[in-house]
Amino acid sequence: MSKVIISSLYDSDTFKMACRQFDQAADAISLPEDIRDRTKYPRRCVAVALPVRRDDGTVTVFEGYRVQHNLSTGPAKGGIRFHQDVTIGEVAALSLWMSWKCSLAGLPYGGAKGGVIVNPGQLSEGELERLSRRYMQELIPFIGPHIDVPAPDVGTNEKIMGWMMDTYSNHIGHHSPAIVTGKPLSLGGSQGRREATGAGVAYLITRYLEDLRIPVKEATVAIQGFGNVGGEAALALSDYGAKIIALSDYTGGVFNAGGIDVRKALNYVKYQKVLRDFDGGEPITNEQLLTLKCTVLVPAALERAITAETAPKLQCRLLAEAANGPTTNDASRIIEDRGDIELIPDVLCNAGGVIVSYFEWLQNLQNFYWSREEVLQKLFAILDRAKEAVEYQRRKFKFGRRLAALTLGIQRVADAKQRRGLFP
Ligand code: NAD
Repeated sequence: MSKVIISSLYDSDTFKMACRQFDQAADAISLPEDIRDRTKYPRRCVAVALPVRRDDGTVTVFEGYRVQHNLSTGPAKGGIRFHQDVTIGEVAALSLWMSWKCSLAGLPYGGAKGGVIVNPGQLSEGELERLSRRYMQELIPFIGPHIDVPAPDVGTNEKIMGWMMDTYSNHIGHHSPAIVTGKPLSLGGSQGRREATGAGVAYLITRYLEDLRIPVKEATVAIQGFGNVGGEAALALSDYGAKIIALSDYTGGVFNAGGIDVRKALNYVKYQKVLRDFDGGEPITNEQLLTLKCTVLVPAALERAITAETAPKLQCRLLAEAANGPTTNDASRIIEDRGDIELIPDVLCNAGGVIVSYFEWLQNLQNFYWSREEVLQKLFAILDRAKEAVEYQRRKFKFGRRLAALTLGIQRVADAKQRRGLFP
């Protein structure tokens, strides 16, 4: 009965996709029935109405959500998305993936996610600040440094995290940096946090290229999504010596067989906001980018970009899922059946963001700050451990890499729930 109600609350393709992944992983490790639904469904969610005074004096009410999937292994942790297509089902799916990701990386967190239905590009700076502060204000009864710690995601950034931290700190009456991560350095942000997700993606790509015996300097890379994650991954990969042959954002893409100057592209986007009309190569569509012949394909935009229609046409050797859920379940099956593409699944590939968020939270709680070198060294050590664990699980059970990563993440959460017991 409860199962039906919860499923319909979150009803969406992305939530169904995350649940199907859970079911497959639970079957693969024979997870006992009495722990399954407890582990699968989000623990709680809030929906909030956010009235915001516009610059012209009118008021617009925006809708926002926060979904806390798991609180059994520590405070919940997860980003806040500002995007016009946000749904509560999408936010719930992202909260499940956060749980498995934190668990796989061995972080003492559960998963959460937040979202507001808004196109932030259509708000003035003042409107964006009022919306960010109002959203945080509405969440205050549900979050805290030991309850749920938000971070940036699509459409949010360190400036927004700073406003949110200030709103929370004003409410409780003292500086409380550990309430959010991904803050500016001057407000208790961590060295290396801004680039952490992309740097982690790039590091794992170099490790998997080593396994494939492909020198990074001979690798060509196509990246969909040129925001925080795609931009930083592009920069780190080009610094490792890889050739970035294609980049894109929601306005379309650019292709240059000789290699794109990533710093020039980043500088262009800093001022123009989008890649449209960037003159570093020929224009291409997002569809063309995904099916380009390249060594590494990095989807770093939104969920469900690679579909059953695209999957047979992929021409990469390594698919590095920098975005969350970029490959539909049907597409994933096709890729696995093809057997010629190695996959770095999202819960491993983009874990760098939450790992350095964890470091930021630790530094805030201790008021003791680390150098960038220390942060990156510790980040890469955790990614190496997680990669080794996935490879071991894969060999031991003859699983695909996604199933190996998910089963590890899910098993640890289910174990924690079982050992804690059921209250009352
Ligand atoms: P962002 O808002 O900084 O950038 C998103 C990029 O994707 C932009 O360049 C945007 O133009 C592009 N985009 C949006 N829709 C597109 C479309 N239909 N086709 C092509 N490009 C499109 O967001 P981000 O923080 O870089 O997040 C990107 C992905 O990485 C998301 O899936 C997010 O959940 C995931 N992620 C982010 C972090 C983080 O630390 N920011 C951590 C882990 C995972």
